[in-house]
Amino acid sequence: MKKQHITDPIEERLKGVSRRDFMKFCGIMAVSMGLPLSAGTQIAEAITNPKRRPTVIWLHGQECTGCTETLLRTSHPSLEHLILDLISLDYHETLNAGAGHQAEAALYQSVKENAGKFILVVEGSAPLKDGGKYCMIAGRPFVDIVKEIAAKAAAVIAIGSCASWGGVQSSPPNPTGATGIPEVLKGTTVVSIPGCPPNPYNFLSTVLYFLTFGKLPALDEKARPKFAYGRLIHENCERRPHFDAGRFADTFGDEGHRQGYCLYKLGCKGPITHANCPAILFNEVGAGAWPVGTGHPCFGCTEQAVGFKIPLHTQAEILQVTPDAAHAPIEMEKGKGVSAGAAALLGGIAGVAIGAGAVITKNLGKSDEGE
Ligand code: SF4
Repeated sequence: MKKQHITDPIEERLKGVSRRDFMKFCGIMAVSMGLPLSAGTQIAEAITNPKRRPTVIWLHGQECTGCTETLLRTSHPSLEHLILDLISLDYHETLNAGAGHQAEAALYQSVKENAGKFILVVEGSAPLKDGGKYCMIAGRPFVDIVKEIAAKAAAVIAIGSCASWGGVQSSPPNPTGATGIPEVLKGTTVVSIPGCPPNPYNFLSTVLYFLTFGKLPALDEKARPKFAYGRLIHENCERRPHFDAGRFADTFGDEGHRQGYCLYKLGCKGPITHANCPAILFNEVGAGAWPVGTGHPCFGCTEQAVGFKIPLHTQAEILQVTPDAAHAPIEMEKGKGVSAGAAALLGGIAGVAIGAGAVITKNLGKSDEGE
């Protein structure tokens, strides 16, 4: 008898991505949201339900397009699959095939058809000075376009530091009046995913959380997802054991720098910056792919009062003096315990899992607000 081919709905839906890779991706997303691995199944169900594929409209204001670039660098899944299968990206000025009147018509058609249901993503700040004339799109000030489209969106996400609070162009004297989208849309909940660039998984996780659970993840007082911005970089940094032991790089290229010692004296802002960079890293090229891991001090790009505000090499005020108990003692005898790197990694995972995961998991099925 001829064998009947049973179509796998997931493989059918995600053409070119194996079921195994797809489930791995959903697991990664669940863990990066601070959820148990098993929540990956719920995420997979949400993604593979074509009726729940969210429409995303992506606007560009004052920025360098680095946030889009960082998304292009994801490989779980590639942007091609992200666009075609996970979300319906109806308008994105960098990626649109059409241009001019054709692109504008597509934008307003999508807003009309998906009113109240689409996710608006804004990349870049809005200049408010002189009537917003420093960023015009199709003859209109960008700020007016944002206000008009946000009024019809189901959720608004500000991606990157520029959209979250103004970014580099808002540094004094801020000649164009560059302003973050939460400030432009006062009274509307705007989820902020700051970073220069932001980690693409923090964005993807937020969108998938919304898609899977029909609500936004728990947010901190600056409307950043707690699963991504709930901890100081300093708490999970792989160089933390050196900080606790008083081992610092004094100048770039000195012996301490070459040994991988703490970068605090070079101006690292990890002690005053909330982000999960040391736990989830960047660019998927292996361990160490984040600024501090490559030997550069954190400059605090995820904090409004730090990045582009406090000079790069000014030392940060230490907020947390007590060593993190999750780290192994730096003086542990060689061969008798975990390495400093492994301890930092474990500390990072423990921090994310205990801090964000437990809280969010506890509240699954309830409102995520007001934790
Ligand atoms: S000061 Fe910077 S390099 Fe040193 S432990 Fe903290 S985050 Fe890591």
